[in-house]
Amino acid sequence: MNKLVLASGNAGKLREFGQLLAAFDFEVLPQSAFNVPEAEEPHVTFVENALAKARHASRLTGLPALADDSGLCVSALGGAPGVLSARYAGEPKSDAGNNAKLLTDLANAADRRAHFTCVLVLVRHADDPQPLIAEGEWHGEIIAAPRGADGFGYDPLFLDPASGKTAAELSHDEKNARSHRGQAMAQLANKLAARR
Ligand code: IMP
Repeated sequence: MNKLVLASGNAGKLREFGQLLAAFDFEVLPQSAFNVPEAEEPHVTFVENALAKARHASRLTGLPALADDSGLCVSALGGAPGVLSARYAGEPKSDAGNNAKLLTDLANAADRRAHFTCVLVLVRHADDPQPLIAEGEWHGEIIAAPRGADGFGYDPLFLDPASGKTAAELSHDEKNARSHRGQAMAQLANKLAARR
């Protein structure tokens, strides 16, 4: 199997990407196994941040690398918190703080539309001129009070209109079947299959 480094230390992502990429003969290893420090994410777009993370991991390990960048974009807030989703309420990053700030910022908003977005970037080497890029979006709305105990981040406030449940009320498999990350992973698998 070919080794591929994941530009993340998240155990859940490691498992999911590991399963997906095993079908393409990749053994997925976390960047922590190579002592790769977290990359800077200075850019204003998801794709640039994902590319920066993938290049950084690939340059420091000499291996192909996969990175993702994701966030919540709220219509009434002009797309915020967007690439700043993890630290919307400032440092140290806190899901509870971010959710509280989101509800305050939307207190008088009639338009509650929002979508999650996820961009995946796979580079074969640090200077790969043709990175594989896959994207997914999950559209829904922000409710007035949190619901559900599963999930992370903004999941308890994000209502999936198709099921009438928040992302925190969906099972892991139900969320994966419709989420921004699930869609991006499916697209990445298609693109990998087409490149073979
Ligand atoms: P990351 O790119 O996976 O680190 O995600 C950035 C931030 O976006 C997270 O810290 C969450 O606040 C938010 N986010 C991304 N995806 C999700 C999701 O599936 N559910 C809830 N929040 C998410």
